[in-house]
Amino acid sequence: MPLVSMRQLLDEAAKGGYGVGAFNVNDMEQIQAIMEAAKETKSPVIIQASRGARQFAQDRYLFHLILAASELYPEIPIAMHQDHGNSFETCKSAIELGFTSVMMDGSLKADGKTPASFEENVEVTRKVVDYAHERGVTVEGEIGVLGGVEDGHGAGGSGLDHITDPDQAVEFAERTGVDALAIAIGTSHGAYKFTKKPDGSVLKMDVLIAIHKRLPNTHLVMHGSSSVPQDLQDIVNQYGGKLKPTWGVPVEEIQLGIRNGVRKINVDTDNRLAITGAIRKVLWESPEKFDPRDYMKPAREAMQKVVALRMTQFGQAGHAGDYQPVSIADIAKGYKDGSLSTRPLVAAK
Ligand SMILES: [Zn+2]
Repeated sequence: MPLVSMRQLLDEAAKGGYGVGAFNVNDMEQIQAIMEAAKETKSPVIIQASRGARQFAQDRYLFHLILAASELYPEIPIAMHQDHGNSFETCKSAIELGFTSVMMDGSLKADGKTPASFEENVEVTRKVVDYAHERGVTVEGEIGVLGGVEDGHGAGGSGLDHITDPDQAVEFAERTGVDALAIAIGTSHGAYKFTKKPDGSVLKMDVLIAIHKRLPNTHLVMHGSSSVPQDLQDIVNQYGGKLKPTWGVPVEEIQLGIRNGVRKINVDTDNRLAITGAIRKVLWESPEKFDPRDYMKPAREAMQKVVALRMTQFGQAGHAGDYQPVSIADIAKGYKDGSLSTRPLVAAK
């Protein structure tokens, strides 16, 4: 199957009332793990690469690996997404490379660290939307600022520092025409999200629900949404790792989000933990081994297990065959003639 538009994938998810995991990749084994999990669970899927991943793998390798996935798994709709684009240029280069979706994270300035003003965010996001939609490419924007740092991107600090204001979310959606909207509700990037199981004082699901009420047709995105399960932490630590105790976003909270307009859920840390735990276990138990396949194979299997579980929990499992892909050229036409609306439906307060 050719790569599909993330907009189509999310529109279908909204119709079906489910969420779609967006899994980060840096290398071949991670792409293989995701695709095997998608095949196993018959799931449409979003594969995403950060700027750091594009640097690590090099653009051409990354693009051709994902192209290979689309050839090998013709039954699986795949959207290829730029995670946290920091500037118009980053998004433009992703589109030129063949990504079918980009995130313009204008919540931060181009340095990827300093919070930007609302007007700066609107301006750069609008510019990316104009450029991307002309080419049939989906755009995710961000309003409010996530906590933590990942791949060198992030304002740092607590997830509670810049919670999204629902009124601003409405204005942002109206003025930018984004297809999907990432919001800040207390989550953070990286492994250290919460110091205990999060409750409503730190994980603001009420804010998410308020935004969904105002923007009932806008696809919401949860970032920093690994669950950081204890068993994956334990495996890492059991075999010589030194992770400090930490809590992620419980799956039941993500499922509550999915019932309230969340269509894309970003997961990276859980996969990193699964891979690292599996590698540590092999090297700890069999220090004589030196063939990378001896530990990369179990690492890949461990990630596949986590991804397949999330696909089932998010509800995307079983939906790979629901629809035929619309070509990116036809998506571009849809944006142009208005059949693919970018004007959000706004409900009264
Ligand atoms: Zn993120």
